Amino acid sequence: MAAEPAHAPLYRRALLKLSGEALLGGTTYGIDPAAAMRFAREIHAASLSGTQMCVVIGGGNIFRGLAGAAYGMDRVKADYIGMLATVMNALALANALNQAGAQAAIHSAIPVEAAGVQPFQRDRALRDLSSGKIVIFAGGTGNPFFTTDTAAALRAAEMGCDVILKATQVDGIYSADPKLDPDAARYERLTYDEALTRDLKVMDAAAFALARDSRIPIVVFCIEAEGSIGAVLGGKADSTFVTAD
Ligand code: UDP
Repeated sequence: MAAEPAHAPLYRRALLKLSGEALLGGTTYGIDPAAAMRFAREIHAASLSGTQMCVVIGGGNIFRGLAGAAYGMDRVKADYIGMLATVMNALALANALNQAGAQAAIHSAIPVEAAGVQPFQRDRALRDLSSGKIVIFAGGTGNPFFTTDTAAALRAAEMGCDVILKATQVDGIYSADPKLDPDAARYERLTYDEALTRDLKVMDAAAFALARDSRIPIVVFCIEAEGSIGAVLGGKADSTFVTAD
């Protein structure tokens, strides 16, 4: 029998937004299985520590609709390719989770029956979470012109998550680009409205607005270091909190 966690977790149910880029690992295109395994181990550990884990996975390591449109593709078709890219990433992450000893269920706005990628159904996803599975949401919102950040805010609201963990390559939201401006300072806290009016690029406006309306805090943190998922769930990671006040 699994040991009981020593402390009650900070979050009862969390939604982790992983960009497709996170799956690049040491490569420049596609999926690095070693990166998928690292995230799988950390997500599994978080779930064993008592936080029910949802994951929304992006697709930018494979295809982005905007990039296709810039080359003259029809934007809607290009966005569907992007959404299908997220399904491939979800399959890779689910496979890694299984190899790490966890049970995973993919719920997709774009189901792919032959690959066992079931259609998103909220009640079934809730049952999967309650039975200890890690739930991966694929296919974004299922609509073109949206992003997987918006999908993260939407699924977090539907699933009653108490936090959105937005994984990025920097440890929060800065007053300017920290790579370009040495005076850039990290915000400890921001309100949703500040994030919206300052047009911060860390998530799109629709995602901030949805999170604000359902009052789900967003924690922006850096995913680069090993153990960062556990650290942010334990409240021990440098980060920016986006909340109502
Ligand atoms: N996408 C979409 N609708 C959605 C979510 C995603 O059309 O609801 C498409 C869009 O083309 C996007 C691509 O899927 O560029 C990959 O998603 P995203 O750019 O959000 O991935 P990430 O940047 O997180 O890797």
